[in-house]
Amino acid sequence: MFNALVVEKDEETGKTSAAVTQIGEDDLPHGEVLIAVEYSTVNYKDGLCIGPGGGLVRQYPHVPGIDFAGTVEQSSDDRYKPGDKVVLTGWRVGEAHWGGYAQKARVLADWLVPLPEGLDTRAAMAVGTAGLTAMLSVMALEDHGLETGHGPVLVTGAAGGVGSVATAILANLGHEVAAVTGRPETAEYLQGLGATQIVPREELTEVTKKPLESEKWAGCVDAVAGAMLGRVLKQMKYGTSVAAVGLAGGAAIEGALITPFILRGVNLLGIDSVMQPYDNRLRAWARIAKDLPMEKLESMVQPATLSDLPGLGRDILKGQVKGRVVVDVNA
Ligand code: NDP
Repeated sequence: MFNALVVEKDEETGKTSAAVTQIGEDDLPHGEVLIAVEYSTVNYKDGLCIGPGGGLVRQYPHVPGIDFAGTVEQSSDDRYKPGDKVVLTGWRVGEAHWGGYAQKARVLADWLVPLPEGLDTRAAMAVGTAGLTAMLSVMALEDHGLETGHGPVLVTGAAGGVGSVATAILANLGHEVAAVTGRPETAEYLQGLGATQIVPREELTEVTKKPLESEKWAGCVDAVAGAMLGRVLKQMKYGTSVAAVGLAGGAAIEGALITPFILRGVNLLGIDSVMQPYDNRLRAWARIAKDLPMEKLESMVQPATLSDLPGLGRDILKGQVKGRVVVDVNA
């Protein structure tokens, strides 16, 4: 038997509750690879799945945790053998399939990637889904022409998980980074990650009727959407791109929207980490190991245990988590 954070649903009241409970290997879902989980993390979706699920959880009882890293214990797939270090992100693990908030997990081999050289399991989870998505965003911006020396790159929701890693990667690649935050107290932290400019959130959340504004940004990683994305699009330089990752600030894009696309040739690139094919994940993890300075990564980390998760799930939904939470499932 081993520890897991199990979310139960009371069928009569419809209410959910989460608690650390003992489960066995026979309780785990089907899959080719059994993994001794070492670390998991807290992402926005985990906040939803620890609580009422937000439509993501298919079946209760449920073990959340959309990403994890650990060591293979058993494998019926030739690609993995006992002792291999692996990392998992995406594929609806932690939503439709039990995830990483347990000391063991069983998943399909296709969903895993070998731990990239240069990262241990803890560092891989300090990066986690949020960091992988930040890297995929930077790669998409580069594919669409992002180069250094053309002005600042904007990162929204900068003190959050995606934003923190995006800030550190972009700064390390030599970009000027303008970090948007609603928490002025995080300015020093963001400067430590390499931000050269701190933009207060309220400067970008007021909806304006102007079809375009002065050209400011050479690229953008946007974790917020909502009113902010509407404003940011109008401030992008000619021919640049926004990598849209999330909707922490709301699902609707507001404002006069079409003008940036037809008058400035701005690209809006949707980034999805969940269904990324194996080769893309491998490439992104290799870039992370190369382009993300480990000392900066360490400054983002807040350690946690399985029993901290119900509170942290609530915090992340309120936008109150700074950087990346790393959950030691064996602590
Ligand atoms: P976090 O909660 O860690 O960060 C989100 C940040 O957004 C907050 O820290 C805050 O930053 C800012 N924010 C929160 N609420 C608002 C608001 N109302 N208006 C403006 N800014 C706000 O989450 P993650 O970084 O892990 O994820 C961010 C988004 O990206 C989520 O929507 C998540 O679901 C999505 N996501 C998408 C992925 C994909 O594959 N596409 C993968 C991972 C995440 P600050 O305090 O600095 O202002």
